[in-house]
Amino acid sequence: MKFSRIPAFASGLLALALITFTGGCAGPAGSVTPSVQATPAAQTSSPPEKPAGQTVKAEPADNKPAPVLKPQLGAAPAEGKTPENREQVVYLTFDDGPNSFFTGKVLDILAEKGVKATFMVVGKNAEKNPDLVKRILAEGHGLANHTYSHDYNIIYKSPEAFTADLDKNNKALIPFTAEPVMVFRAPGGPQKLGYSFKEKLRARGYISVGWNITSVDSDPHGVSPEQEYNNIVRDLDRVERLKRTPIVLMHDGTQLATSEAKPGTPLAAYINNRESTIKALPAVIDLFKSKGYRFAVVDAHTPPAW
Ligand SMILES: [Zn+2]
Repeated sequence: MKFSRIPAFASGLLALALITFTGGCAGPAGSVTPSVQATPAAQTSSPPEKPAGQTVKAEPADNKPAPVLKPQLGAAPAEGKTPENREQVVYLTFDDGPNSFFTGKVLDILAEKGVKATFMVVGKNAEKNPDLVKRILAEGHGLANHTYSHDYNIIYKSPEAFTADLDKNNKALIPFTAEPVMVFRAPGGPQKLGYSFKEKLRARGYISVGWNITSVDSDPHGVSPEQEYNNIVRDLDRVERLKRTPIVLMHDGTQLATSEAKPGTPLAAYINNRESTIKALPAVIDLFKSKGYRFAVVDAHTPPAW
């Protein structure tokens, strides 16, 4: 692993120092529209229905046998599919990597749990971690375009600049993917894209994918694994009530030098959040499994978040 590639640290620190509170990832502009617009539940303080934490699993509190958890498919014949008996699908997504410290850990957990996810890859990080890009693809996960630079000053300058950065990412990714990756997630979230951006992207064939559930692991004040789990439980409750398909935002994180993080700094919080995400992930996966969800990878047919 390329721990010695410190230059990334300098730009990473600049970005991190300006991170604003958001469910999405922040760039150097630091002017992220809070993604809570897309996930209004993130601002609520209502307690989750279940206690949170790593130990939350489908285990009984006493000695009763664990319930057999099955998808709620109902008894209706297949041709009568309704929102009530359709297959439930969840998309787990990880933004900003590959990251030499955390992406491998995420992949290990996904493999252990036997589920798939999608990585929203930043080109400059893909170039630093080609083995992780290969591993993501070899293990059957999805890969989407999260721009080359992830630099708000570059990508949000104009629609042309945005598509050029997506194109640049495709140049970096094509040795691995063979074909351009047209499904993308806008840094900061789709709400960052104005009309002219959307028109340009649509004309170029790019397909935007947002999210409707967030662990809020971009909070520069830091989040614990329990908080991340609770955030997901709360958002999932809303998504299920609104009969949306859950698309979960988490971060494996941009490439950075963890050894340089000073306690109490935004960088340290950023790193701690990645560690919280790793710790929360097994319980998050178990949550969706216990509800009968199938884990799918993002593609051009992924339904809109909202
Ligand atoms: Zn991002």
